[in-house]
Amino acid sequence: MAPTHDPIVRLVNFLSQLPGIGEKTATRLAFHIIRSPEEFARGLAGALVDVKEHVGFCSICCNLTQDDPCRICTAGGRERHVVCVVEGTPDLMAIERTGEFQGMYHVLHGALRPLEGVGPDDIRVKELVQRLAATSGDEETRVTEVIVATNPNTDGETTALYIAKLLRPFDVKVTRIASGVPIGGDLEYTDRVTLSRALAGRREI
Ligand SMILES: [Zn+2]
Repeated sequence: MAPTHDPIVRLVNFLSQLPGIGEKTATRLAFHIIRSPEEFARGLAGALVDVKEHVGFCSICCNLTQDDPCRICTAGGRERHVVCVVEGTPDLMAIERTGEFQGMYHVLHGALRPLEGVGPDDIRVKELVQRLAATSGDEETRVTEVIVATNPNTDGETTALYIAKLLRPFDVKVTRIASGVPIGGDLEYTDRVTLSRALAGRREI
């Protein structure tokens, strides 16, 4: 994309790089921003800079967070022996909304997509292995179960099987959430009841 000094074109160019936003939507959003009060534009710009400056990865679970370790990792009363692996922070939030899961999380930030060249080094799977290795010697912190709650589509299944294989050397039960989450579906958009059932009906892989 050629650099431009026209502020409208520049804004449209930036917005159209967002996922799911085509040029037409980007143009509509740009004109909405132009018509909005100046405080809105300043607020939006500030919020954008703020997330880049203040949101990072939790050093324990890789969740996106303002504080490190994140609020879930530092919360008291959670089941520290069970770790639920999800593809992204929105999935973690969906599971948290069910109120059914009291364990810990690990956020991969993606799934394996071998056909598109997305391999293990492109997602945060190494961090999970390191976490298990670091805690395996201590009864207090040892992880006894890893629930793989990646999306129920081809990439999610590939990732789940890869993780199960990777964790075999550890003395840990690896389970997969039950179907019920529609095949090809997205955890993030699954309703609470279905998600709770899928978690409750998990099976060892
Ligand atoms: Zn965390």
